[in-house]
Amino acid sequence: MTDDLLTHVDDVLPWHVNLYEDLHRNPELSFQETRTSGLVADRLRNLGYTVHTGIGGTGLVGVLVNGPGSVVLARADMDGLPVREESGLPYASTTTATDPQGRQVPVMHACGHDMHISCLLATAQLLAEHRADWSGTFIALFQPAEELVAGAQAMVDDGLADLIPKPDVALGQHVMGLPYDTVASRPGAALSASDSIKVTVHGRGTHGSMPHLGIDPILLGSAIVLRLNAIVSRELAPGHFGVVTVGSFQSGTKSNIIPGSAELLLNLRSYNRETRSLLRAAVERVVRAECDASGCSAPPEFDDYQSAPLTQNSPEVHNKVFAAFANRFGDKAVLMEPSTGSEDFSDIPNALGVPYLFWIWGGFDPDTYRTAEADGTLSTTIPGNHASTFAPVMEPTMRTGIEAMTTAVMSYLAKDANNA
Ligand SMILES: [Zn+2]
Ligand SMILES: [Zn+2]
Repeated sequence: MTDDLLTHVDDVLPWHVNLYEDLHRNPELSFQETRTSGLVADRLRNLGYTVHTGIGGTGLVGVLVNGPGSVVLARADMDGLPVREESGLPYASTTTATDPQGRQVPVMHACGHDMHISCLLATAQLLAEHRADWSGTFIALFQPAEELVAGAQAMVDDGLADLIPKPDVALGQHVMGLPYDTVASRPGAALSASDSIKVTVHGRGTHGSMPHLGIDPILLGSAIVLRLNAIVSRELAPGHFGVVTVGSFQSGTKSNIIPGSAELLLNLRSYNRETRSLLRAAVERVVRAECDASGCSAPPEFDDYQSAPLTQNSPEVHNKVFAAFANRFGDKAVLMEPSTGSEDFSDIPNALGVPYLFWIWGGFDPDTYRTAEADGTLSTTIPGNHASTFAPVMEPTMRTGIEAMTTAVMSYLAKDANNA
């Protein structure tokens, strides 16, 4: 039955290519996806979906009930990034927008979320137009502000659970800076948990020539940076994944002033709860101990200002969907390496209490990015997500994305799948 639906991809592809080019030309920043969600809502209504808009800001869902069977939720994210596009595409963005700080910034779909929207809408269309091929309920969810790791939780907090039937499974996908001949999934931890912490340490300001009258927060901060870098190498068991990065260290204004305080921005990555709490506890212990060693004027402050949940795929869902991928894509379906990137997708299934799968697929022709090295070898430098040159090729990326999403959904909703 699945193959029946996929034989119609060519019928829906041109409309979605047009939509993709339109979305790519007109990206919107996180929580500003008004035009995008309007387009999506109109399309879902025309296809016969029951649509709820304005969930968590610009989020929306379309629900299609088509007889008894499983309830499947599939999610796409909608936001662009403050990046000036340098892709050279004929449909490149020249859009600007006002960011939350009031600055005018360029905006680009540099993470491929426009591809996610187009592919999920195409799956929604295939299901709406071929209802005899499946049975159950399909929920297409479009979330804002993935790039702020905030949009999924915003939809949950705004009562998502009361607007939709409880799903049996949730699905999501991401196009990546990888060769286009890959669709990759894995059971268990697929994307890392991410935690950002602002640490403020308080010394005592003084003249640069009279250090004995003060407590130097720059020396203190430097000791903290060095010591934090020992957490992963000395406290985490070899072979376990963890990252502790100090991404910003700000203090002082002038060479002859010892400032009063310093601010450090930290980012932690982990693949399980134990490592996550080990890293967080070690950071706090190290900072407090170094502040004590310096005789600080006040205790340090910790502001946990942004975190992304662990993306931990259900082995059962992976096994079912990956078998369907292998059937569909042959050796293009591969096991995914765990990624150090992060996502907020899992906030939705976690809140609804349902198992989930998040997979990735490649969007780039490696031949385009092959360069000859001085020694005669060839190397491939495909742009990563968020690069100003991030530009998935239309063919076959969109077709693969539509086929992957539809295949995964149909592994639950095809008439012969319901009894499985
Ligand atoms: Zn991104
Ligand atoms: Zn993304």
